[in-house]
Amino acid sequence: MTTSVSRPTQRPTEDSVREAVIAWRRYLHQNPELSFHEERTAQFVAETLASFGSLAISRPTPTSVVARLIGPRPGPVLAMRADIDALPIEERNTHDFVSRNPGVMHACGHDGHTAMLLGAAQVLAARKDDLVGEVRFVFQHAEELNPGGAEELVKAGVLDGVGMIVGAHLWLPMPYGRVGVKSGALMASPDNFVITIKGSGGHAAIPHETIDSIAVAAQVITNLQHLVARNVDPLASAVVSVTRVAGGTTYNVIPGQVELAGTVRTFDPALRARIPELMQRIVGGITAAHGASFTFEWDAGYRPVINDERASDLLRRAVVRALGAGVLVEASPTMGGEDFSAYQEKVPGSFFFIGARNEERGITNPHHHECFDLDERALDSGTRIFVAAAMEMAATPGAPGTSGRGVPGARSQ
Ligand SMILES: [Zn+2]
Ligand SMILES: [Zn+2]
Repeated sequence: MTTSVSRPTQRPTEDSVREAVIAWRRYLHQNPELSFHEERTAQFVAETLASFGSLAISRPTPTSVVARLIGPRPGPVLAMRADIDALPIEERNTHDFVSRNPGVMHACGHDGHTAMLLGAAQVLAARKDDLVGEVRFVFQHAEELNPGGAEELVKAGVLDGVGMIVGAHLWLPMPYGRVGVKSGALMASPDNFVITIKGSGGHAAIPHETIDSIAVAAQVITNLQHLVARNVDPLASAVVSVTRVAGGTTYNVIPGQVELAGTVRTFDPALRARIPELMQRIVGGITAAHGASFTFEWDAGYRPVINDERASDLLRRAVVRALGAGVLVEASPTMGGEDFSAYQEKVPGSFFFIGARNEERGITNPHHHECFDLDERALDSGTRIFVAAAMEMAATPGAPGTSGRGVPGARSQ
């Protein structure tokens, strides 16, 4: 027999896990893995969760982890999601926990998301007896790469029985000390396109015997801007950006074709559906005018993140409970995309922003920057808000979604 059972251990609290959360984040930052390849990350998450006790841990896909914390009384099931993947970026930070994986970097803050949700899981596992219903911790792979991991997890049944889901992004546009919650549209649909302009190549000094795909492509790029300026309601929101232009090899050859790639961002599903048609009309008109032709490929990305009102209310209460009313602000919508929307198709959910910017310390680089960093104090905010959300859910009679073993009003049991 070992004596470990009788050794008194202190019950983990938000305060006591703070340093561990930072250490986990730094470990993950040093060991980033790309979307759909998060093998070691998932292993680390699963092992760390197992060390907390009380959690039922499963691996719905090879690189994701779900942990269920089932309270003693039946009640609502609240899911909390963290994404765990990194990006194909060569890190240029100089702190002492830079990436050890060349060409791969946690440049979006998902290392922090993972660490702060682990912290919440540890604190809540120790408070299991106070819980009503279930808290389900979802550590999701592949947020950064369409079609995204969220869709796979939904298909794998991760949301079965779940009444509500919440998720956070550590957010550089917002200073540390603020937390942004918002009902309704928060993040856009990130759809991508590839347009190939097909002309007819030839000698650069004999242009009349060619159909100059570069000259046509230049007009296409310019005219695509008319789409947002003149076809979209000024009160609606849309972005059309051409981000890659590829064509030609040398000085004296007019290339036969040019490839244009880019992204379209919208919030409104009806507008989103119209955009590819409007784009093809423009490209078709311009190419026809010059005797060129084109192909058009559309790669539909994530759906927009539209936050449920009740879930957003739960978050607001959680933020106030955890950090006080002074930190709570209305989140500003962003044209960035998030596959959190895949969960919201299935159950009410709300996604929120935790400020992680620090001007004084120069922590200002945007997400996906090679010197991206975050104010690590924001991790503690995240842990506290997730813990408070579980406590708020437990304190809300008749909250949507039950564990299936009970009925609304289970609090009285
Ligand atoms: Zn990102
Ligand atoms: Zn992200």
